[in-house]
Amino acid sequence: MKTQSDLYRELPGVDELLRDPDIAGLVAREGQAVVADACRSVLGHLRDEISADRVDAESLSVVLSRVHAAVKDELNRVMGYSLRSVINATGVILHTNLGRAPLAEKALERIRETAGTYSNLEFDLPSGERGKRDVHVDRLFRQLLSAEGGHSAGRARTPVAPHPNDLRDTGVPARTPEPSISTIVVNNNAAAVLLALNTLAEGHEVIVSRGELVEIGGSFRIPDVMAKSGAILREVGTTNRTRLSDFEHAINERTRLLLRVHRSNFEISGFTEQSSITELVALAEKHKLPLMEDLGSGALFDLRSVGINDEPGVLDSLRSGVHVVTYSGDKLLGGPQAGMISGREGLVQKMRKNSLFRALRVDKLTYAALEATLLAYVKRDYDAVPALRMMQLPKSEITNRCEALVSQIGSGDLRAELLDGESLIGGGSAPSAVLPTTLIALTSRHLGASELAARLRALDTPVIARVEEGRVLLDLRTVFPEQDKVLRHSLVQIAAE
Ligand SMILES: *Cc1c(COP(=O)(O)O)cnc(C)c1O
Repeated sequence: MKTQSDLYRELPGVDELLRDPDIAGLVAREGQAVVADACRSVLGHLRDEISADRVDAESLSVVLSRVHAAVKDELNRVMGYSLRSVINATGVILHTNLGRAPLAEKALERIRETAGTYSNLEFDLPSGERGKRDVHVDRLFRQLLSAEGGHSAGRARTPVAPHPNDLRDTGVPARTPEPSISTIVVNNNAAAVLLALNTLAEGHEVIVSRGELVEIGGSFRIPDVMAKSGAILREVGTTNRTRLSDFEHAINERTRLLLRVHRSNFEISGFTEQSSITELVALAEKHKLPLMEDLGSGALFDLRSVGINDEPGVLDSLRSGVHVVTYSGDKLLGGPQAGMISGREGLVQKMRKNSLFRALRVDKLTYAALEATLLAYVKRDYDAVPALRMMQLPKSEITNRCEALVSQIGSGDLRAELLDGESLIGGGSAPSAVLPTTLIALTSRHLGASELAARLRALDTPVIARVEEGRVLLDLRTVFPEQDKVLRHSLVQIAAE
């Protein structure tokens, strides 16, 4: 019977392990330092096993005969990427847990072209002097949010044929003269709300309807952000009903801002009342107060063209006369994570001067990606933006891809059938913002639905699916067509297990 110290003596040293031919191969690939670390970690684990009496001489010799495999596993664990690409088969286009909007090809190209080298991020090329980073996108926002550039069928000054995806026209009459709209970009929409509230209302009151004191996933709560901004929340109305007179009665000499918040992830139905944006604008102007709207998703694309009618766009809001709007870059806009503040020049100028703006600013990668995404809008090349492309995908096309995929799975352990279902826009757009789709329903003969979903997540390219009523559901709307092949291979493999 060997003692613990006998067993310890059987363990090789790190140098000895590094000379093992299999491990030497790893050293050639990954470098000596990390492989030596992996060896130390494997040997440390074995020492723990010995001291806890969990191995005897026999099992130790088995483990040692495979020690190179253990080193390799450890190396993979340490050196493998934690942030990985996955196949989103949930049908939720803007899935917050899966990274929201995938970037346009052109945006990726621009990141590569500008981020790996020096750029004129804050450098004015004509004068050779220091420039401002926000000029790179402000010009495009101006174009997209101005009366002429706003892609509005109804309001185009020149008689051009309206594009089918032209931004919606709310029918609100033009306000003359057209106010100049400026845009600044910060880290995300939560930061945009924080900066706007701090600039416009620090130490003063902001009036909000009780029905709009929302919490967005990931612990963004309007009352908390309000407190951090130094503004004082003045709640009015009730959860289901807030009248214009509730706002009006709350206005006093401490009031600095009226705030409207998009309800994003829930709806209030039944006995409800909410002032219209036009009424709020009129009230704000009567009292010479700014009205801000936190749109959340903030579409720059006419969602009515894909059958979604109740999601307000950025242009709708500005055209109605809202003074400042905030919205995300990686929700309906389909770009990088960012938060936009678009509004009246004078108000946005104040935010630009706030030192918080410096703390919340975005980097060159974001500007590169955002500029490319906005240029796709200027060109009306909506297909170039993956989130918009997915929204526009007709159900028939999804059905065809589903049929092609299912026909090749064969008759192994998996049973697949097609059903009608709904894709979700997600990303804080109205919960009713859904698109008709075709789903692949998978059932396994020996795995339960949640086990099958876990098996899909364990693939080299993890597949994320929905589980409903004992079935695994795949929605190809959010799967890139070039991923169909990988998905098919994976399903064939699982079916054969
Ligand atoms: C999503 C959302 C936010 C937060 O935006 P982020 O870009 O995630 O910071 C704030 N307000 C509303 C209404 C939202 O929908």
